[in-house]
Amino acid sequence: MKVFISADIEGTTGITVWTECEKGKPDYEEFRKQMTAEVVAACEGAMEGGAKEIVVRDAHDTARNIIASSLPENVKLIREWSGHPFQMVQGLDESFDAAIFTGYHSRAGSDTSPLAHTLTGSSMYIKINDRYASEFLINSYSAASVGVPVIMVTGDKGLCVDAMDLIPNIRTVPVSEGEGTSNISIHPNLAVKKIKETAKQAVSGDPGKCKLPLPKIFQVEILYKDNRLAYKTSFYPGARLEGTHTIKLECDDYFDVLRFLTFMK
Ligand SMILES: [Zn+2]
Repeated sequence: MKVFISADIEGTTGITVWTECEKGKPDYEEFRKQMTAEVVAACEGAMEGGAKEIVVRDAHDTARNIIASSLPENVKLIREWSGHPFQMVQGLDESFDAAIFTGYHSRAGSDTSPLAHTLTGSSMYIKINDRYASEFLINSYSAASVGVPVIMVTGDKGLCVDAMDLIPNIRTVPVSEGEGTSNISIHPNLAVKKIKETAKQAVSGDPGKCKLPLPKIFQVEILYKDNRLAYKTSFYPGARLEGTHTIKLECDDYFDVLRFLTFMK
């Protein structure tokens, strides 16, 4: 059993404001440790559930957040951005049996996390085939494109609800709930316990139940906050501007969606 873990930070237990997500800021250290503890819990649970090989992809901002020495010794860690369009799931391929996403967060245009956004923060929302797209959705389709089911996600409650809508049998660990610019969280140590237990159950269960069918056609829509970014993006091959702030793109290869999202600002 080979498991891939993609770890973000904005859905880490307790995290509420951007300075807590930013390397170099005094608030960051506490949440970097909690992010690491949650990834360690997912690794340990996965190993108890039967995972023999685990690759962790640090998937937030600098992609240099996780404290590597805290991870179990048999885990490999991917840091920094290569530029590959898989971005937050860079390194995921057909050789994996299952994927787990930790510290994930609500999508752009939602009100269920004070840190809600999708990819860059420059959009009001991104839609794929008329469905509001979270990073969870984008990365789950990437996983589906290489035949890997996403069996578990941790993060804010809004994201967990969205995840179950996309993948009904996925296991979730909701650790917080946003309300306006505030956040209500469970205790960080309890989150770690729940993540470990849930990862064990998810990995020892049937990953096939979480298989996500990949659509055959993709219609991508981005509503930009800034019309100037929309104008610039309209020159991406195949993209077109609708009105002043909306970009649309249609294609039949999911990798072309990822290619587009890699170049969007
Ligand atoms: Zn992030």
